Amino acid sequence: MNLHEYQGKEILKSFGVGIQEGIVAETPEQALKAAIQLQKETGTGWWVVKSQIHAGGRGKGKISGTDQSGVALAKTLDDVKRISENLLGKVLVTIQTGPQGKKVNKVLVAQDVYYPGESKPKEFYMSVLLNRSSGRNIIMYSTEGGMDIEAVAEKTPHLIFKEEIDPKVGIQPFQARKIAFNLGLSGNSFKEMTRFVMALYRAYDSIDASMFEINPLLKTSDDKIIAVDAKVNLDENALFRHKDYEAMRDKSEEDPTEVEAGEHNLNYVKLDGNVGCMVNGAGLAMATMDIIKLAGGEPANFLDVGGTANAARVEQAFRIILKDPNVKAILVNIFGGIVRCDRVAQGIVDAYKNIGNIPVPIIVRLQGTNAVEAKKIIDDSGLKVFSAIQLKEAADLVNQLLKK
Ligand code: GDP
Ligand code: MN
Repeated sequence: MNLHEYQGKEILKSFGVGIQEGIVAETPEQALKAAIQLQKETGTGWWVVKSQIHAGGRGKGKISGTDQSGVALAKTLDDVKRISENLLGKVLVTIQTGPQGKKVNKVLVAQDVYYPGESKPKEFYMSVLLNRSSGRNIIMYSTEGGMDIEAVAEKTPHLIFKEEIDPKVGIQPFQARKIAFNLGLSGNSFKEMTRFVMALYRAYDSIDASMFEINPLLKTSDDKIIAVDAKVNLDENALFRHKDYEAMRDKSEEDPTEVEAGEHNLNYVKLDGNVGCMVNGAGLAMATMDIIKLAGGEPANFLDVGGTANAARVEQAFRIILKDPNVKAILVNIFGGIVRCDRVAQGIVDAYKNIGNIPVPIIVRLQGTNAVEAKKIIDDSGLKVFSAIQLKEAADLVNQLLKK
């Protein structure tokens, strides 16, 4: 589950991680109030107004049809109001949103932390994530922070360092010191950085995050180490342990069909192809997608209906698959181990009749207990449903129907 920057920073702060302070706002008036309050609390002279969307690249992104960037410096309260008006309710297009962009519903009014000072602030990069090949968390960091870490990774990969954390003992102080040293710090900022790294890792570990990305991580001109940006990803499988974070979910940022599927406990991921699929079991679903490709089609989705493929669930699954206008055929592939195939077949026929007019052909492959009886139910139903027992037959049917 993705979080907004302001939510991520709130969590980091609660673990003692230094952040650029800010207040979230939904209207230009709220933004103005937030700016005044921030000035009182932090003494900031300038502000930055930051669009809150589930995508990065905001600093270089533009509000559609204008010259307004998604993150902008405000030197006066009038600037805060004007920039907020330019951002709120508008569509922001960044390199990560795709050309259709994302609507900005909230802005974060933050203290300016790049204020003119004795020395220029230094932008670092830091992320915490799981290295799947070693099964350990790693802290990735670089002296080359700012907006273009992808370019750094491509052109100068030797400037990106990795520190692996042993899960048995967790992060050790010497590792935090090594990171601060490699970032070229000394004196007070060295100490600040070791504190930052320890707190950041503790936060990552405690909240069951699957990714943290802090870019830029700033050394201010007065030697403070703070997170200026925060991309926080929570592991959905662990959300049951963090009920308070569940309320941070912003469904308006997610694919509406995926949200609806989630509400029905269906595991659905939308893809770009033309053959919808409905399968029980994640492994079989993956294999079915391969078969669709082999047959010359492209899967339109991943959908695991789970163990109980009853009529109500099958109907819900059909409705969700059919919301995608690219779907030209649906392949149902159910293995009847515990659930009997004839029951599933009857469920499919009932669901079909309930939905009424399904405009695309449905190919049903049922294998397992009572597969032959199931095929007969489908064949005798008189509906535009084609049956198969072997997976190869089903794939060939998909191919033939797509050609038509
Ligand atoms: P992203 O572009 O979506 O990654 O958004 P960021 O939160 O990283 O902000 C983009 C850029 O805005 C940063 O790289 C900074 O250059 C700039 N920025 C962020 N905070 C401040 C600030 O307090 N003062 C100034 N002058 N610039 C800032
Ligand atoms: Mn950033």
